[in-house]
Amino acid sequence: MFKKILIANRGEIAVRIIRACKELGIQTVAVYSKGDEEALHKELANEAVCIGDAAPKDSYLNVENIITAACLSGCDAIHPGFGFLSENPEFARMVEKCGLTFIGPNPSVMEKMGNKNEAIQSMIAAGVPVVPGSHKAVNLEEGLDVAESIGYPVLIKASAGGGGKGIRLVESKEEFTPLFNEAKEEALKFFSNDEVYIEKFIKHPKHIEVQLMCDKHGNVIHLFERNCSLQRRNQKMIEEAPCISISQDLKNKLYDSAIKACKWIGYDSVGTIEFLVDDSENYYFMEMNTRVQVEHCVTEAVTNVDIVKNMIKIAYGLPLQFKQADIKLYGYAIECRINAEDPRNDFRPNPGKINFLHTPGGMGVRIDSAVYPGYTISPYYDSMILKVICFAKTRLECIRKMRQALEELIVDGVKTTTEFDYVLLHHPEFILGHYDTSFIEGFIGELKENGKLIQ
Ligand code: ADP
Ligand code: ADP
Ligand code: MG
Repeated sequence: MFKKILIANRGEIAVRIIRACKELGIQTVAVYSKGDEEALHKELANEAVCIGDAAPKDSYLNVENIITAACLSGCDAIHPGFGFLSENPEFARMVEKCGLTFIGPNPSVMEKMGNKNEAIQSMIAAGVPVVPGSHKAVNLEEGLDVAESIGYPVLIKASAGGGGKGIRLVESKEEFTPLFNEAKEEALKFFSNDEVYIEKFIKHPKHIEVQLMCDKHGNVIHLFERNCSLQRRNQKMIEEAPCISISQDLKNKLYDSAIKACKWIGYDSVGTIEFLVDDSENYYFMEMNTRVQVEHCVTEAVTNVDIVKNMIKIAYGLPLQFKQADIKLYGYAIECRINAEDPRNDFRPNPGKINFLHTPGGMGVRIDSAVYPGYTISPYYDSMILKVICFAKTRLECIRKMRQALEELIVDGVKTTTEFDYVLLHHPEFILGHYDTSFIEGFIGELKENGKLIQ
Protein backbone atom coordinates (compact mmCIF):
# COMPACT_ATOMS: atom_id res chain seq x y z
CA MET A 1 0.00 0.00 0.00
CA PHE A 2 1.04 3.63 -0.38
CA LYS A 3 3.29 4.85 2.44
CA LYS A 4 2.53 8.56 2.29
CA ILE A 5 -0.14 10.56 0.47
CA LEU A 6 -0.28 14.30 -0.17
CA ILE A 7 -3.80 15.72 -0.11
CA ALA A 8 -4.01 18.50 -2.69
CA ASN A 9 -7.12 20.11 -1.24
CA ARG A 10 -8.57 21.87 1.77
CA GLY A 11 -11.79 21.97 3.78
CA GLU A 12 -13.94 19.02 4.76
CA ILE A 13 -12.85 16.83 1.83
CA ALA A 14 -9.19 17.14 2.84
CA VAL A 15 -10.18 16.10 6.37
CA ARG A 16 -12.24 13.21 4.96
CA ILE A 17 -9.27 11.94 2.93
CA ILE A 18 -6.82 12.29 5.84
CA ARG A 19 -9.13 10.15 7.97
CA ALA A 20 -9.31 7.47 5.27
CA CYS A 21 -5.51 7.43 4.94
CA LYS A 22 -5.03 7.11 8.68
CA GLU A 23 -7.44 4.18 8.81
CA LEU A 24 -5.39 2.53 6.08
CA GLY A 25 -2.14 3.17 7.97
CA ILE A 26 -0.90 5.70 5.42
CA GLN A 27 1.04 8.83 6.41
CA THR A 28 -0.51 12.12 5.28
CA VAL A 29 0.87 15.43 4.07
CA ALA A 30 -1.51 18.40 4.00
CA VAL A 31 -0.90 21.44 1.85
CA TYR A 32 -2.28 24.80 2.90
CA SER A 33 -2.34 28.38 1.74
CA LYS A 34 -1.36 31.45 3.72
CA GLY A 35 -5.11 32.02 4.14
CA ASP A 36 -5.47 28.60 5.78
CA GLU A 37 -2.96 28.83 8.64
CA GLU A 38 -5.74 27.83 11.08
CA ALA A 39 -7.31 25.17 8.90
CA LEU A 40 -8.26 21.83 10.39
CA HIS A 41 -6.77 19.71 7.60
CA LYS A 42 -3.38 21.24 8.35
CA GLU A 43 -3.64 20.18 11.99
CA LEU A 44 -4.90 16.66 11.35
CA ALA A 45 -2.30 15.58 8.79
CA ASN A 46 1.04 14.14 9.90
CA GLU A 47 2.85 16.91 8.06
CA ALA A 48 1.78 20.20 6.50
CA VAL A 49 3.43 22.29 3.81
CA CYS A 50 2.56 25.89 2.94
CA ILE A 51 2.20 26.15 -0.84
CA GLY A 52 1.46 29.83 -1.43
CA ASP A 53 -0.83 32.76 -0.98
CA ALA A 54 -4.53 32.55 -0.20
CA ALA A 55 -5.81 33.00 -3.77
CA PRO A 56 -6.43 29.50 -5.20
CA LYS A 57 -4.28 30.14 -8.28
CA ASP A 58 -1.29 30.73 -5.99
CA SER A 59 -1.84 27.69 -3.78
CA TYR A 60 -4.42 24.95 -4.34
CA LEU A 61 -4.09 25.37 -8.10
CA ASN A 62 -0.32 25.80 -8.01
CA VAL A 63 0.77 22.58 -9.71
CA GLU A 64 4.50 23.15 -9.31
CA ASN A 65 4.36 23.89 -5.60
CA ILE A 66 2.05 20.98 -4.87
CA ILE A 67 4.15 18.42 -6.75
CA THR A 68 7.36 19.80 -5.25
CA ALA A 69 5.84 19.48 -1.77
CA ALA A 70 4.90 15.87 -2.52
CA CYS A 71 8.36 14.96 -3.79
CA LEU A 72 10.27 16.70 -0.99
CA SER A 73 8.12 15.14 1.71
CA GLY A 74 8.60 11.67 0.25
CA CYS A 75 5.02 10.99 -0.83
CA ASP A 76 4.21 8.22 -3.26
CA ALA A 77 0.75 9.49 -4.27
CA ILE A 78 -1.46 12.59 -4.46
CA HIS A 79 -5.19 12.67 -3.74
CA PRO A 80 -6.83 15.68 -5.42
CA GLY A 81 -10.22 15.65 -3.62
CA PHE A 82 -12.88 17.62 -5.56
CA GLY A 83 -12.80 21.01 -7.26
CA PHE A 84 -9.33 22.59 -7.68
CA LEU A 85 -7.07 20.21 -9.69
CA SER A 86 -9.21 17.09 -9.32
CA GLU A 87 -10.37 17.01 -12.94
CA ASN A 88 -7.27 18.46 -14.55
CA PRO A 89 -5.61 15.83 -16.78
CA GLU A 90 -2.41 17.87 -17.19
CA PHE A 91 -1.97 17.86 -13.43
CA ALA A 92 -2.56 14.10 -13.32
CA ARG A 93 0.00 13.59 -16.09
CA MET A 94 2.54 15.78 -14.35
CA VAL A 95 2.04 13.85 -11.10
CA GLU A 96 2.71 10.57 -12.88
CA LYS A 97 5.71 12.02 -14.73
CA CYS A 98 7.24 12.86 -11.38
CA GLY A 99 6.95 9.23 -10.36
CA LEU A 100 3.93 9.65 -8.10
CA THR A 101 0.50 8.03 -8.36
CA PHE A 102 -2.49 10.25 -9.08
CA ILE A 103 -5.43 8.96 -7.04
CA GLY A 104 -8.10 9.09 -9.69
CA PRO A 105 -8.70 7.74 -13.18
CA ASN A 106 -5.97 7.56 -15.84
CA PRO A 107 -5.38 11.01 -17.34
CA SER A 108 -6.60 10.15 -20.83
CA VAL A 109 -10.04 9.01 -19.68
CA MET A 110 -10.20 12.06 -17.42
CA GLU A 111 -9.42 14.26 -20.40
CA LYS A 112 -12.07 12.58 -22.50
CA MET A 113 -14.78 13.06 -19.86
CA GLY A 114 -13.57 16.47 -18.70
CA ASN A 115 -14.62 18.13 -21.89
CA LYS A 116 -18.39 17.78 -21.89
CA ASN A 117 -18.63 17.69 -25.68
CA GLU A 118 -16.09 14.91 -25.97
CA ALA A 119 -17.89 13.09 -23.18
CA ILE A 120 -21.20 13.40 -25.01
CA GLN A 121 -19.59 12.06 -28.20
CA SER A 122 -18.24 9.06 -26.27
CA MET A 123 -21.67 8.40 -24.80
CA ILE A 124 -23.31 8.50 -28.22
CA ALA A 125 -20.74 5.95 -29.37
CA ALA A 126 -21.40 3.82 -26.28
CA GLY A 127 -25.15 3.87 -26.96
CA VAL A 128 -26.11 5.95 -23.93
CA PRO A 129 -28.94 8.50 -24.47
CA VAL A 130 -27.83 12.16 -24.50
CA VAL A 131 -29.74 15.47 -24.46
CA PRO A 132 -30.55 16.78 -27.97
CA GLY A 133 -28.22 19.67 -28.81
CA SER A 134 -25.09 20.74 -30.65
CA HIS A 135 -22.94 18.04 -28.99
CA LYS A 136 -19.94 20.22 -29.82
CA ALA A 137 -18.64 23.73 -29.12
CA VAL A 138 -20.35 26.34 -31.29
CA ASN A 139 -19.92 29.96 -32.34
CA LEU A 140 -22.79 32.44 -32.19
CA GLU A 141 -24.26 31.70 -35.64
CA GLU A 142 -24.02 27.93 -35.19
CA GLY A 143 -25.54 28.30 -31.73
CA LEU A 144 -28.51 30.23 -33.06
CA ASP A 145 -29.04 27.61 -35.77
CA VAL A 146 -28.95 24.70 -33.32
CA ALA A 147 -31.30 26.51 -30.93
CA GLU A 148 -33.71 27.15 -33.77
CA SER A 149 -33.70 23.54 -34.90
CA ILE A 150 -34.12 21.92 -31.43
CA GLY A 151 -36.54 24.66 -30.32
CA TYR A 152 -36.48 27.04 -27.34
CA PRO A 153 -35.94 26.98 -24.40
CA VAL A 154 -32.30 25.91 -24.66
CA LEU A 155 -29.32 25.94 -22.32
CA ILE A 156 -25.96 27.39 -23.22
CA LYS A 157 -23.35 25.40 -21.29
CA ALA A 158 -19.59 25.67 -20.84
CA SER A 159 -17.71 22.75 -22.44
CA ALA A 160 -15.27 22.77 -19.53
CA GLY A 161 -17.99 23.55 -16.97
CA GLY A 162 -18.33 22.47 -13.36
CA GLY A 163 -19.95 23.61 -10.13
CA GLY A 164 -22.98 24.99 -11.99
CA LYS A 165 -20.94 27.78 -13.61
CA GLY A 166 -21.16 28.97 -17.22
CA ILE A 167 -24.78 27.86 -17.73
CA ARG A 168 -27.48 30.15 -19.19
CA LEU A 169 -31.14 29.42 -19.90
CA VAL A 170 -32.42 31.01 -23.09
CA GLU A 171 -36.19 31.25 -23.51
CA SER A 172 -36.32 32.87 -26.93
CA LYS A 173 -34.24 33.89 -29.94
CA GLU A 174 -34.19 37.56 -28.84
CA GLU A 175 -32.35 36.66 -25.63
CA PHE A 176 -29.81 34.39 -27.27
CA THR A 177 -26.94 36.71 -28.20
CA PRO A 178 -26.41 38.54 -24.89
CA LEU A 179 -26.72 35.31 -22.89
CA PHE A 180 -24.34 33.53 -25.26
CA ASN A 181 -21.73 36.22 -24.63
CA GLU A 182 -22.36 36.10 -20.88
CA ALA A 183 -21.92 32.32 -20.76
CA LYS A 184 -18.66 32.60 -22.74
CA GLU A 185 -17.32 35.27 -20.39
CA GLU A 186 -18.20 33.25 -17.31
CA ALA A 187 -16.67 30.12 -18.84
CA LEU A 188 -13.45 31.99 -19.59
CA LYS A 189 -13.32 33.39 -16.07
CA PHE A 190 -13.89 30.09 -14.30
CA PHE A 191 -12.36 27.54 -16.62
CA SER A 192 -9.91 29.55 -18.79
CA ASN A 193 -11.81 28.11 -21.74
CA ASP A 194 -14.63 30.02 -23.36
CA GLU A 195 -16.08 27.16 -25.40
CA VAL A 196 -19.82 26.73 -25.02
CA TYR A 197 -22.39 24.35 -26.50
CA ILE A 198 -26.16 24.19 -26.81
CA GLU A 199 -28.50 21.72 -25.18
CA LYS A 200 -32.25 21.33 -25.17
CA PHE A 201 -33.61 22.55 -21.84
CA ILE A 202 -35.37 19.58 -20.27
CA LYS A 203 -38.34 20.91 -18.34
CA HIS A 204 -38.66 20.03 -14.66
CA PRO A 205 -36.07 17.26 -14.77
CA LYS A 206 -34.76 15.24 -11.90
CA HIS A 207 -31.00 15.07 -11.46
CA ILE A 208 -30.25 11.44 -10.76
CA GLU A 209 -26.67 10.21 -10.63
CA VAL A 210 -25.13 6.77 -10.39
CA GLN A 211 -22.06 6.16 -8.23
CA LEU A 212 -19.55 3.84 -9.86
CA MET A 213 -16.55 1.97 -8.66
CA CYS A 214 -14.14 0.60 -11.26
CA ASP A 215 -10.67 -0.87 -10.82
CA LYS A 216 -7.62 -1.14 -13.05
CA HIS A 217 -8.49 -4.77 -13.93
CA GLY A 218 -11.70 -4.10 -15.85
CA ASN A 219 -14.12 -4.66 -12.98
CA VAL A 220 -17.01 -2.20 -12.91
CA ILE A 221 -19.80 -2.01 -10.34
CA HIS A 222 -22.40 0.60 -9.37
CA LEU A 223 -23.36 1.72 -5.88
CA PHE A 224 -26.92 2.69 -6.76
CA GLU A 225 -28.22 6.21 -7.36
CA ARG A 226 -28.51 9.58 -5.63
CA ASN A 227 -31.24 12.13 -6.15
CA CYS A 228 -29.52 15.52 -6.38
CA SER A 229 -32.46 17.53 -7.71
CA LEU A 230 -32.50 19.97 -4.80
CA GLN A 231 -30.38 22.65 -6.42
CA ARG A 232 -30.20 26.41 -6.35
CA ARG A 233 -28.76 27.94 -9.52
CA ASN A 234 -27.58 24.54 -10.72
CA GLN A 235 -25.70 23.91 -7.48
CA LYS A 236 -26.68 21.03 -5.25
CA MET A 237 -27.92 21.78 -1.73
CA ILE A 238 -29.45 18.57 -0.38
CA GLU A 239 -28.93 15.05 -1.73
CA GLU A 240 -30.49 11.73 -0.92
CA ALA A 241 -30.14 8.03 -1.65
CA PRO A 242 -31.92 6.03 -2.86
CA CYS A 243 -34.33 8.02 -5.07
CA ILE A 244 -37.97 7.24 -4.29
CA SER A 245 -39.57 9.07 -7.21
CA ILE A 246 -38.45 6.96 -10.19
CA SER A 247 -39.37 3.40 -11.11
CA GLN A 248 -37.16 0.39 -10.49
CA ASP A 249 -37.27 -0.21 -14.22
CA LEU A 250 -35.68 3.18 -14.88
CA LYS A 251 -33.14 2.66 -12.12
CA ASN A 252 -32.01 -0.55 -13.79
CA LYS A 253 -31.62 1.30 -17.08
CA LEU A 254 -29.53 4.00 -15.40
CA TYR A 255 -27.26 1.41 -13.75
CA ASP A 256 -26.86 -0.49 -17.03
CA SER A 257 -26.09 2.66 -19.00
CA ALA A 258 -23.61 3.89 -16.40
CA ILE A 259 -21.78 0.56 -16.35
CA LYS A 260 -21.78 0.35 -20.14
CA ALA A 261 -20.34 3.87 -20.30
CA CYS A 262 -17.53 3.09 -17.84
CA LYS A 263 -16.58 -0.07 -19.70
CA TRP A 264 -16.65 1.75 -23.03
CA ILE A 265 -14.29 4.51 -21.92
CA GLY A 266 -12.05 2.29 -19.77
CA TYR A 267 -12.79 4.08 -16.52
CA ASP A 268 -10.57 2.99 -13.63
CA SER A 269 -11.46 4.80 -10.42
CA VAL A 270 -14.54 5.84 -8.47
CA GLY A 271 -16.72 8.27 -10.37
CA THR A 272 -20.24 9.45 -11.02
CA ILE A 273 -22.42 9.62 -14.09
CA GLU A 274 -25.09 12.32 -13.89
CA PHE A 275 -28.39 11.86 -15.71
CA LEU A 276 -31.41 14.05 -16.29
CA VAL A 277 -34.76 12.29 -16.05
CA ASP A 278 -37.91 13.88 -17.45
CA ASP A 279 -41.59 13.43 -16.49
CA SER A 280 -41.99 10.51 -18.88
CA GLU A 281 -38.93 8.76 -17.45
CA ASN A 282 -36.80 9.47 -20.51
CA TYR A 283 -33.23 9.74 -19.32
CA TYR A 284 -30.22 11.54 -20.71
CA PHE A 285 -26.51 11.48 -19.91
CA MET A 286 -25.46 14.89 -18.60
CA GLU A 287 -21.85 14.59 -17.50
CA MET A 288 -19.35 12.40 -15.72
CA ASN A 289 -17.54 13.57 -12.60
CA THR A 290 -14.20 11.78 -12.63
CA ARG A 291 -13.53 12.22 -8.92
CA VAL A 292 -15.01 11.76 -5.48
CA GLN A 293 -18.10 13.90 -5.03
CA VAL A 294 -19.33 16.12 -2.25
CA GLU A 295 -22.35 13.86 -1.79
CA HIS A 296 -20.46 10.54 -1.75
CA CYS A 297 -21.38 10.23 1.94
CA VAL A 298 -25.04 9.40 1.31
CA THR A 299 -23.96 6.42 -0.78
CA GLU A 300 -21.49 5.38 1.92
CA ALA A 301 -24.33 5.50 4.43
CA VAL A 302 -26.78 3.37 2.45
CA THR A 303 -24.28 0.81 1.12
CA ASN A 304 -21.84 0.70 4.03
CA VAL A 305 -18.94 0.98 1.53
CA ASP A 306 -16.12 3.46 2.19
CA ILE A 307 -15.74 5.17 -1.19
CA VAL A 308 -12.59 7.13 -0.34
CA LYS A 309 -10.68 4.16 1.07
CA ASN A 310 -11.63 2.11 -1.97
CA MET A 311 -10.55 4.93 -4.28
CA ILE A 312 -7.09 4.79 -2.70
CA LYS A 313 -6.88 0.99 -2.95
CA ILE A 314 -7.94 1.10 -6.60
CA ALA A 315 -5.26 3.69 -7.40
CA TYR A 316 -2.70 1.38 -5.79
CA GLY A 317 -3.77 -1.29 -8.27
CA LEU A 318 -5.75 -3.58 -6.02
CA PRO A 319 -8.73 -5.34 -7.56
CA LEU A 320 -12.22 -4.47 -6.24
CA GLN A 321 -13.10 -6.36 -3.09
CA PHE A 322 -16.76 -6.42 -4.08
CA LYS A 323 -18.88 -8.01 -6.72
CA GLN A 324 -22.10 -6.30 -7.78
CA ALA A 325 -24.15 -8.77 -5.75
CA ASP A 326 -22.25 -7.78 -2.57
CA ILE A 327 -23.50 -4.19 -2.81
CA LYS A 328 -26.74 -3.85 -0.89
CA LEU A 329 -28.96 -1.02 0.21
CA TYR A 330 -29.40 -0.86 3.96
CA GLY A 331 -31.69 2.15 4.27
CA TYR A 332 -32.08 5.82 3.42
CA ALA A 333 -29.65 8.71 3.70
CA ILE A 334 -29.90 12.48 3.30
CA GLU A 335 -27.10 15.03 3.17
CA CYS A 336 -27.47 18.75 3.90
CA ARG A 337 -24.61 20.94 2.74
CA ILE A 338 -24.27 23.69 5.32
CA ASN A 339 -22.96 26.80 3.59
CA ALA A 340 -21.82 30.03 5.23
CA GLU A 341 -24.33 31.99 3.18
CA ASP A 342 -27.20 34.28 4.04
CA PRO A 343 -30.50 33.00 2.58
CA ARG A 344 -32.12 36.34 3.47
CA ASN A 345 -29.60 38.13 1.29
CA ASP A 346 -29.76 36.06 -1.90
CA PHE A 347 -27.49 33.42 -0.36
CA ARG A 348 -24.54 35.77 -0.37
CA PRO A 349 -21.39 34.16 1.11
CA ASN A 350 -21.02 35.14 4.74
CA PRO A 351 -17.45 34.37 5.82
CA GLY A 352 -16.31 35.33 9.30
CA LYS A 353 -15.45 33.95 12.70
CA ILE A 354 -17.34 31.05 14.26
CA ASN A 355 -17.74 32.10 17.88
CA PHE A 356 -19.43 28.96 19.02
CA LEU A 357 -20.15 25.65 17.35
CA HIS A 358 -22.28 22.74 18.41
CA THR A 359 -22.64 19.80 16.06
CA PRO A 360 -25.32 17.14 16.46
CA GLY A 361 -24.54 13.46 16.97
CA GLY A 362 -26.14 10.16 17.83
CA MET A 363 -26.98 7.04 15.90
CA GLY A 364 -27.04 7.56 12.15
CA VAL A 365 -25.78 11.15 12.27
CA ARG A 366 -22.49 11.94 10.53
CA ILE A 367 -20.79 15.32 10.42
CA ASP A 368 -18.05 15.96 7.85
CA SER A 369 -16.64 19.32 8.74
CA ALA A 370 -13.58 21.50 8.53
CA VAL A 371 -14.55 24.06 11.12
CA TYR A 372 -14.33 24.40 14.90
CA PRO A 373 -15.19 27.05 17.51
CA GLY A 374 -12.99 30.11 17.03
CA TYR A 375 -12.24 29.25 13.39
CA THR A 376 -12.47 32.08 10.86
CA ILE A 377 -14.04 31.12 7.53
CA SER A 378 -11.94 32.47 4.67
CA PRO A 379 -13.58 34.53 1.93
CA TYR A 380 -11.24 32.96 -0.64
CA TYR A 381 -12.88 29.56 -0.89
CA ASP A 382 -16.14 27.71 -1.28
CA SER A 383 -18.77 28.62 1.29
CA MET A 384 -19.57 25.01 2.21
CA ILE A 385 -18.26 24.55 5.76
CA LEU A 386 -19.90 21.40 6.92
CA LYS A 387 -22.08 18.49 5.82
CA VAL A 388 -24.71 16.75 7.92
CA ILE A 389 -25.49 13.22 6.75
CA CYS A 390 -28.30 11.21 8.33
CA PHE A 391 -29.06 7.55 7.84
CA ALA A 392 -32.07 5.48 8.92
CA LYS A 393 -33.96 2.35 8.00
CA THR A 394 -36.87 4.26 6.45
CA ARG A 395 -36.95 7.58 4.62
CA LEU A 396 -39.38 9.17 7.04
CA GLU A 397 -37.19 8.20 9.97
CA CYS A 398 -34.25 9.70 8.10
CA ILE A 399 -36.10 12.98 7.51
CA ARG A 400 -36.99 13.15 11.20
CA LYS A 401 -33.41 12.48 12.15
CA MET A 402 -32.17 15.26 9.86
CA ARG A 403 -34.69 17.74 11.26
CA GLN A 404 -33.54 16.88 14.76
CA ALA A 405 -29.88 17.20 13.74
CA LEU A 406 -30.41 20.61 12.12
CA GLU A 407 -32.40 21.78 15.12
CA GLU A 408 -29.43 20.96 17.31
CA LEU A 409 -26.74 22.42 15.04
CA ILE A 410 -25.43 25.79 16.22
CA VAL A 411 -22.96 27.78 14.12
CA ASP A 412 -22.76 31.09 15.95
CA GLY A 413 -21.09 34.08 14.31
CA VAL A 414 -21.90 33.49 10.65
CA LYS A 415 -25.15 33.09 8.75
CA THR A 416 -25.73 29.62 7.32
CA THR A 417 -28.23 27.65 5.24
CA THR A 418 -29.23 25.48 8.25
CA GLU A 419 -32.64 27.05 8.90
CA PHE A 420 -33.46 27.14 5.19
CA ASP A 421 -32.83 23.40 4.96
CA TYR A 422 -34.79 22.79 8.16
CA VAL A 423 -37.88 24.50 6.74
CA LEU A 424 -37.45 22.69 3.43
CA LEU A 425 -37.42 19.33 5.24
CA HIS A 426 -41.00 20.07 6.36
CA HIS A 427 -42.33 20.79 2.86
CA PRO A 428 -45.01 18.27 1.82
CA GLU A 429 -43.48 17.81 -1.63
CA PHE A 430 -40.11 17.03 -0.15
CA ILE A 431 -41.68 14.56 2.25
CA LEU A 432 -43.42 12.87 -0.65
CA GLY A 433 -40.17 12.90 -2.60
CA HIS A 434 -41.82 14.32 -5.70
CA TYR A 435 -39.45 17.17 -6.39
CA ASP A 436 -37.41 18.14 -9.44
CA THR A 437 -34.61 20.64 -10.12
CA SER A 438 -37.07 23.55 -10.18
CA PHE A 439 -38.31 22.83 -6.65
CA ILE A 440 -35.94 25.07 -4.71
CA GLU A 441 -36.66 28.09 -6.86
CA GLY A 442 -40.38 27.62 -6.24
CA PHE A 443 -39.75 27.06 -2.56
CA ILE A 444 -37.76 30.31 -2.31
CA GLY A 445 -40.67 32.05 -4.05
CA GLU A 446 -43.09 30.64 -1.47
CA LEU A 447 -40.89 31.79 1.40
CA LYS A 448 -40.67 35.29 -0.04
CA GLU A 449 -44.42 35.45 -0.52
CA ASN A 450 -44.96 34.48 3.09
CA GLY A 451 -42.49 37.14 4.21
CA LYS A 452 -40.06 34.50 5.49
CA LEU A 453 -37.23 35.52 3.20
CA ILE A 454 -36.99 39.28 3.10
CA GLN A 455 -34.64 40.48 0.37
P1 ADP B 1 -20.61 17.64 -6.84
O1 ADP B 1 -21.32 18.60 -5.98
O2 ADP B 1 -21.51 16.80 -7.64
O3 ADP B 1 -19.49 16.93 -6.21
P2 ADP B 1 -19.96 20.00 -8.15
O4 ADP B 1 -19.93 20.14 -9.64
O5 ADP B 1 -21.00 20.71 -7.38
O6 ADP B 1 -19.96 18.49 -7.95
O7 ADP B 1 -18.53 20.43 -7.61
C1 ADP B 1 -17.98 20.04 -6.37
C2 ADP B 1 -17.05 21.10 -5.88
O8 ADP B 1 -16.04 21.36 -6.81
C3 ADP B 1 -17.74 22.40 -5.63
O9 ADP B 1 -17.14 22.99 -4.51
C4 ADP B 1 -17.48 23.19 -6.90
O10 ADP B 1 -17.47 24.57 -6.65
C5 ADP B 1 -16.12 22.68 -7.31
N1 ADP B 1 -15.92 22.56 -8.75
C6 ADP B 1 -16.53 21.73 -9.61
N2 ADP B 1 -16.04 21.83 -10.84
C7 ADP B 1 -15.07 22.76 -10.79
C8 ADP B 1 -14.18 23.32 -11.76
N3 ADP B 1 -14.18 22.92 -13.02
N4 ADP B 1 -13.31 24.25 -11.35
C9 ADP B 1 -13.29 24.64 -10.05
N5 ADP B 1 -14.10 24.14 -9.10
C10 ADP B 1 -14.98 23.23 -9.46
P1 ADP C 1 -21.89 21.17 -13.80
O1 ADP C 1 -20.68 20.54 -14.43
O2 ADP C 1 -21.74 22.62 -13.59
O3 ADP C 1 -22.35 20.38 -12.62
P2 ADP C 1 -24.08 19.97 -15.30
O4 ADP C 1 -23.99 19.69 -16.75
O5 ADP C 1 -23.94 18.81 -14.38
O6 ADP C 1 -23.00 21.09 -14.94
O7 ADP C 1 -25.43 20.74 -15.00
C1 ADP C 1 -25.69 21.30 -13.73
C2 ADP C 1 -27.18 21.31 -13.45
O8 ADP C 1 -27.87 22.08 -14.43
C3 ADP C 1 -27.83 19.95 -13.51
O9 ADP C 1 -27.73 19.24 -12.30
C4 ADP C 1 -29.28 20.29 -13.86
O10 ADP C 1 -30.00 20.68 -12.73
C5 ADP C 1 -29.12 21.50 -14.77
N1 ADP C 1 -29.10 21.10 -16.18
C6 ADP C 1 -28.01 20.78 -16.91
N2 ADP C 1 -28.34 20.47 -18.18
C7 ADP C 1 -29.69 20.60 -18.28
C8 ADP C 1 -30.65 20.45 -19.34
N3 ADP C 1 -30.28 20.10 -20.58
N4 ADP C 1 -31.95 20.69 -19.07
C9 ADP C 1 -32.34 21.07 -17.82
N5 ADP C 1 -31.50 21.24 -16.80
C10 ADP C 1 -30.18 21.01 -17.00
MG1 MG D 1 -22.88 18.37 -12.65
